[in-house]
Amino acid sequence: MMKYGNNHPKPAKYQTQRLLFPTISAVVVSIHDVCPKTRETTGRMLADIRDAGAGVASLLVIPDRHKSDPAFTDKDFCGWVKGEVSGGHEAVLHGYYHQRMAGHEQRGVEKMIATRYTAGEGEFFDLSEEKACELLGRGVEEMTGALGEVPRGFIAPAWLMGEGAREGVKKFSFDYTTTVSGVWDLKEGGGFYPSQSLCYSVRAGWRRACSLGWNSLLLAWLEEAPLVRIGLHPPDWDYPHIRAHALRCIERALAGRRAMTYISWIDQQRTHAQFP
Ligand SMILES: [Zn+2]
Repeated sequence: MMKYGNNHPKPAKYQTQRLLFPTISAVVVSIHDVCPKTRETTGRMLADIRDAGAGVASLLVIPDRHKSDPAFTDKDFCGWVKGEVSGGHEAVLHGYYHQRMAGHEQRGVEKMIATRYTAGEGEFFDLSEEKACELLGRGVEEMTGALGEVPRGFIAPAWLMGEGAREGVKKFSFDYTTTVSGVWDLKEGGGFYPSQSLCYSVRAGWRRACSLGWNSLLLAWLEEAPLVRIGLHPPDWDYPHIRAHALRCIERALAGRRAMTYISWIDQQRTHAQFP
């Protein structure tokens, strides 16, 4: 069975996996952590990225962020998401609580990733397969019931999936998942499309400064790449210089590429593979 990997799969692991290369020139803008409490900011972000030329985006919806923001029982929120989806955006399942469960103890690098890197949000980083399946099943059922469509994509909080979550995701009918380093087509015959995502970290001044430099470098490095991914979070819009930088990156990335959602990009990749 096809395997898909960590945020940074080791080269040796890659060799056993099918590596695919994007052929459609596209920019995928994703807005993470969409939930009732971030709805207003997400609306502003969508208006801004549309003005920058990206008319569609993938919206990563959290079913119940931090166990205090239930999305799929909120009729106003669900009506808003449905309206955005009918306007061309995509709703993607994004974890369940977006909060790492208590009681997991790691040391060294694992602890650093699970706590400092993700600020404790890496919900699917160290779950058992059984627990991952339970949360995925609830998420799919609630999202399908509320929005009227089965989510075709799953993206783990902070893009982090441990072995249990990776095995669990295979048991559902998702078309794709993503890590920070690429996109996995999960259907039979699929594989991994490498494409490092731009992403900002705004929790501290030094992180914001590093993000600006890193994303500028990354976008320059991706100049000839057919697929550019730009991952945004609502707190990014609290900082005018981050917002302005992200919008400039979107405008630059769209030169010679068109904005697509992840699922429309995956569908077109598959069509192209069938009828090149
Ligand atoms: Zn998230």
